Amino acid sequence: MSLTRKRVLVTGGAGFLGSHLCERLLKDGHDVLCVDNYFTGRKDNISHLLDDAHFEAMRHDITFPLYVEVDEIYNLACPASPVHYQYDPVQTTKTSVIGAINMLGLAKRIGAKILQASTSEVYGDPTVHPQTEEYRGNVNPLGPRACYDEGKRCAETLFFDYLRQHRTRIKVARIFNTYGPRMHPNDGRVVSNFIMQALRGEDITLYGNGKQTRAFCYVDDLIEGFVRLVATGDDITGPVNLGNPHEVSVGELADRVIRLTGSRSRIVHRELPQDDPLQRCPDITLARSTLSWEPRVALDDGLTRTIAYFDRMLTERGEGQDAAAE
Ligand code: NAD
Ligand code: UDP
Repeated sequence: MSLTRKRVLVTGGAGFLGSHLCERLLKDGHDVLCVDNYFTGRKDNISHLLDDAHFEAMRHDITFPLYVEVDEIYNLACPASPVHYQYDPVQTTKTSVIGAINMLGLAKRIGAKILQASTSEVYGDPTVHPQTEEYRGNVNPLGPRACYDEGKRCAETLFFDYLRQHRTRIKVARIFNTYGPRMHPNDGRVVSNFIMQALRGEDITLYGNGKQTRAFCYVDDLIEGFVRLVATGDDITGPVNLGNPHEVSVGELADRVIRLTGSRSRIVHRELPQDDPLQRCPDITLARSTLSWEPRVALDDGLTRTIAYFDRMLTERGEGQDAAAE
């Protein structure tokens, strides 16, 4: 419970990360305004919060101006999985760029602190490893991922222009692959795909040779990083990497999911998508020193909790089957 109750706006609050953040902020004793257009977010993600008098949900698209009075803003609204952000790439760029302008304009008017949920995608297919915040990235501005990568890069530019021009109280977090309960089951991201496939006993689709790497952060760890970053003084702006520095290959992730679900699924190879980064792992030295933060949840533990969530979801849908027991 925090000492002072704040009014906090979470854009994208009905999404995967947003719903966990809303929950955490309520637990900390704040008033939470969740704004979402439900493009990839789901009412189910926040239905358990609706009875809380300190929680309010508003349907709104952040590409349109928003007039509210709050103390802090967490700007998370944006589809995050390649399948979803490539579905309507123009809208993805609008959400990142026009959405950032609207939320920064709001923060400027009311003097609120504002956190931007940026991404490791600003580093593109990196040539520096692990990635530090100084690295300027290797992004293809013309490819299918560009609507997201360049949209997020432009949003960062806007955040730092608002800082220089208007002294807006900004915080920029560069999030690396994060997973956990309430990921969208059909968003095509690797953790949700592999778990759903394993639980259904379907083939596990490994793109390319599976040697590409990612580093997976459990959602609770990431949310702790967000909250710590926003609690810092105005001199700490970021960008700061938030992610788990434990790097694994996507092939190894498939093996772990098969082991933890006890599934009999087979691994099948599919073509590697265009511009798929070959290596990604955060250097979190800055987060360690400025936020005293580092992830605590080991990959197997986080996967076990996530598997339990998807297993329950399949059971509720009447698709319940224990791939392992068949
Ligand atoms: P998500 O798709 O579950 O959540 C995004 C939310 O934003 C959804 O609820 C969606 O309906 C909402 N939204 C989209 N466009 C909107 C608009 N124009 N107006 C209002 N709401 C809108 O994804 P997530 O994984 O929870 O990601 C949240 C944020 O974190 C995103 O900004 C994403 O870029 C960033 N991020 C996430 C990861 C990750 O691994 N999960 C990694 C890097 C960055
Ligand atoms: N991937 C895979 N099989 C899948 C989905 C994804 O092998 O069914 C790979 C994908 O090619 C990428 C990695 O897993 O190398 C992470 O993909 P995701 O879409 O989760 O996130 P991002 O590429 O944005 O890090």
